[in-house]
Amino acid sequence: MKTIIDHIHKHHPHKVATHRYLAGWDAAQLAELIRTVRAQTTKADVAARLAELKQGPKCTHWVSGGASPHPASGKPICPQCRAETEGAEAA
Ligand SMILES: [Zn+2]
Repeated sequence: MKTIIDHIHKHHPHKVATHRYLAGWDAAQLAELIRTVRAQTTKADVAARLAELKQGPKCTHWVSGGASPHPASGKPICPQCRAETEGAEAA
């Protein structure tokens, strides 16, 4: 909920009283707002987690955090590690 309020304040800074502002919205508008905020939050979370993983140990191809699973896809961050994993799955 806090991120939703932050989103409203960022995009509608002139609206101070959030509850009064949202009172005029219908369910579809609220659902759309929640979808937008969730998508943005997920994107930011993935980027932050990815940056964190890239601080990790190097894989056999000397990519920092290369063997760690990408937070969104679940596949290794390093393209070569990824190719090896996919090759192993196919075999
Ligand atoms: Zn690798």
